[in-house]
Amino acid sequence: AQPSVVVVGGGFAGASCARALKQLDRDLAVTLIEPETAYLACPFSNAVLAGLRGIDAQTFGYDRFGDIGFIRKRAVAVDAERRRVRLDDGTDIGYVRLVLAPGVDLRFDALPGYDEAAAEIMPHAWKAGPQTLLLRDQLAAMPDGGVVILSAPANPFRCPPGPYERASLIAHYLKTSKPRSKLIILDAKDAFSKQRLFEAAWRELYPGLIEWVPLSSGGRVTEVDPATRTLVTEFGSHKADIANVIPPQRAGRIAQSAGVADQTGWCPIDPVTFESRLQPAIHVVGDAAIGGAMPKSAFSANAQAKACAAAVAALVRERQPAQPKLINTCYSLIAPGYGISIAGVYQPRDGLLAEVEGAGGTSPLEAPSSVRELEAAYAEDWFRTITSEVFG
Ligand code: FAD
Repeated sequence: AQPSVVVVGGGFAGASCARALKQLDRDLAVTLIEPETAYLACPFSNAVLAGLRGIDAQTFGYDRFGDIGFIRKRAVAVDAERRRVRLDDGTDIGYVRLVLAPGVDLRFDALPGYDEAAAEIMPHAWKAGPQTLLLRDQLAAMPDGGVVILSAPANPFRCPPGPYERASLIAHYLKTSKPRSKLIILDAKDAFSKQRLFEAAWRELYPGLIEWVPLSSGGRVTEVDPATRTLVTEFGSHKADIANVIPPQRAGRIAQSAGVADQTGWCPIDPVTFESRLQPAIHVVGDAAIGGAMPKSAFSANAQAKACAAAVAALVRERQPAQPKLINTCYSLIAPGYGISIAGVYQPRDGLLAEVEGAGGTSPLEAPSSVRELEAAYAEDWFRTITSEVFG
């Protein structure tokens, strides 16, 4: 019989991994388990909020997976001893190796007042789809002169530059459509990704429009009241016309029930094979995994998935997996035609994925507008390339 590798989650990580496994070894039986009929991509979803893009451009079907077995079900439990995954219809499927790629769960237990019902009033929009449209529609309905508050969580979380790209594109919308409005970022951190580039661009493009309140100035939100759209911090409370609350996160639920998440909520992995530190023969890739300096991005998820697939293909055939080198690049749009980026290279060191010193970097702080324009175009190219590679 063909060795069976099961992949749970058809996002950037899981779909990439299933595809790479089949490409590496046609004789593997590869099964992809994903309950949704279509994937809604988060990269570029901030442009949807600002009315610069439709949600259709974010939507990808699962009809181009060739001879990968696609099962449209949710995985609900894993029996690590018997090496079987249970699905939500009660059936189960056996594996020699399992790859879990469930992405993140938003923690509705971490911020008093913020639960699933509150998210219908104070959207997180941290999973693309109805939440993105809800926040977009709130922005469109807000009168000029309104106050938008975005709260950003402490590290680690999905897409470190994401809240600041979002703030930029909301500011672009406000500047062009509702110029008397204001945007406040309440942050549970004192520093953020590409900070100097963002702040310089905000001074240039959106003077006086964005106020960033760091942790040390009372930026950490400790409680919310959806009824009055109030966000409480250690230093006082803020009333918003629109509140975009991005709560703390953890690995998707199946990782918790499979026993591969630790007390932090994330999944520690071996940096060469992405095999769980907690359960044998279960690998974790993408946002759910943690194991060093690599940020949680679609680019990372895709790179990790390919490295993991190579390791799994080797292990299944009892070969030694090779040491991987992984690249990440995160583009952010600050306005249409204004892009910036951060890149890094990572490799296994001391049991973690460590950044290779001097191999990465960010866009230059001082640059002519032609450079920002080029980076905005690269961002679009990257999105087109990765989504056609992953979803066909
Ligand atoms: P996901 O993409 O969340 O995929 C997980 C999949 O698993 C989902 O399809 C889900 O339905 C499925 N699943 C979950 N549980 C189960 C289960 N029990 N059984 C079966 N299936 C299950 N990254 C970039 O690189 N560049 C960007 O510009 C960028 N911009 C972003 C902007 C925003 C606003 C946000 C929120 C994120 C952004 N990201 C960006 C980050 C990127 O979206 C994530 O890092 C990426 O989606 C992670 O991929 P993943 O496959 O690990 O998780």
